[in-house]
Amino acid sequence: MSQESLQTAPPLTLLAEDEQLFRNSVLEFAEQRIRPQVRDMDEHAKVPRALIDELFELGVMGIEVPEAHGGAGASFFHSVLAVEALSQVDPSIGVLVDVQNTLVVNALLRWGTDDTRRRYLPALASRTVGAYALSEAGSGSDAFAMAARAAERDGAFRLTGRKLWITNANEADLFIVFANVNPEAGYRGITAFLVERGFPGFTVGKKEDKLGIRASSTCELLLEDCSVPKANVLGEVGKGYKVAIETLNEGRIGIGAQMIGLAQGALGHALRYVRERRQFGKTIADFQAVQFQLAQAATELEAARLLVYNAARLRDARRPFLSEAAMCKLYSSQAAERITSLAVQLFGGYGYVKDYPVEKLYRDAKIGQIYEGTSNMQLQTIAKQLLG
Ligand SMILES: Cc1cc2nc3c(=O)[nH]c(=O)nc-3n(C[C@H](O)[C@H](O)[C@H](O)COP(=O)(O)OP(=O)(O)OC[C@H]3O[C@@H](n4cnc5c(N)ncnc54)[C@H](O)[C@@H]3O)c2cc1C
Repeated sequence: MSQESLQTAPPLTLLAEDEQLFRNSVLEFAEQRIRPQVRDMDEHAKVPRALIDELFELGVMGIEVPEAHGGAGASFFHSVLAVEALSQVDPSIGVLVDVQNTLVVNALLRWGTDDTRRRYLPALASRTVGAYALSEAGSGSDAFAMAARAAERDGAFRLTGRKLWITNANEADLFIVFANVNPEAGYRGITAFLVERGFPGFTVGKKEDKLGIRASSTCELLLEDCSVPKANVLGEVGKGYKVAIETLNEGRIGIGAQMIGLAQGALGHALRYVRERRQFGKTIADFQAVQFQLAQAATELEAARLLVYNAARLRDARRPFLSEAAMCKLYSSQAAERITSLAVQLFGGYGYVKDYPVEKLYRDAKIGQIYEGTSNMQLQTIAKQLLG
């Protein structure tokens, strides 16, 4: 076979021209518009609405929404690139955009009717923040043991219960809420509903005071006989478990992207600092022990990025990606914890204080091992696939 006729797939990290342009524009936005606000947002645990409006203008809140509905009509991989680039500067903004795209828009695109897509996709692409409400106080890893109930009455569903830990809840106007319409049927009663903030009986409750990703809001939701029109069932009644499983399988690739962005940010800070900081008459970058730690971190980050990009590209190619998605989240969140810890270490005492950016990234990294399935849950998924 001649060299010219050899057909090989492109390298995973080689971006197409539009992917490259998109990533660069998001990164530039993050550096110019987000970077100056990171510390303030972390301290006040809040994202200014003006910044959210800029995210809509940038076109990162409806990445996969078809152009006909006002979105960018781009791929899942573009969402991954956006979350990675934003998280390099602020993982709180990374997760805001991640939930919007990989969970809320994704679920609507997949399970919405023509009617619900027409009603909600243009809003999601232009002004409405979305949230995804599965977890409760008593059901996290065992999410399908939820206590929230939905009963059909007078041509509508009435939802009762409480959801906990809901990302974007303070900013969101549209919530995908899971409740069980038939508890006797177990998980086969779980149904997904599109709930607007203004629906009667719906309230956003207490906001959590968190270790990391502090600017990202995490709140309780109260459902008190909340009335939801039948037309707002997402997917089929009793098939909400499928909506949850399938969107979360994809969503966790987005968390992988958040983790590699965050780790890249921390590594970048460390690389700059070690070239400046002098001890024993040299920069600390001159010490081989420091060089090797950085080389190890860069290797782990590259491995994590390959896992994330591969899972995302498999998903866009409509190939199976269950294990790959679990592996990418598992590994990238572990690597992010190690890399941010190293960054703090290399900054020495300066790494431990808020005047420098790495302590925040260290705090932000931990969540990657908890939400959208803890590390043990990812291991369980991988083991199931391995052992059948
Ligand atoms: C900041 C933040 C944002 C979040 N955002 C959202 C959101 O937007 N929407 C939403 O629905 N949820 C959200 N969550 C909830 C999150 O998904 C859950 O916290 C997570 O799934 C873990 O559930 P849990 O907290 O109840 O822990 P548990 O399920 O009680 O787990 C506790 C520990 O036990 C381990 N464990 C549990 N079962 C097993 C088992 N079978 N085998 C081995 N180990 C096990 C876990 O790995 C974990 O280490 C968020 C959480 C946080 C902290």
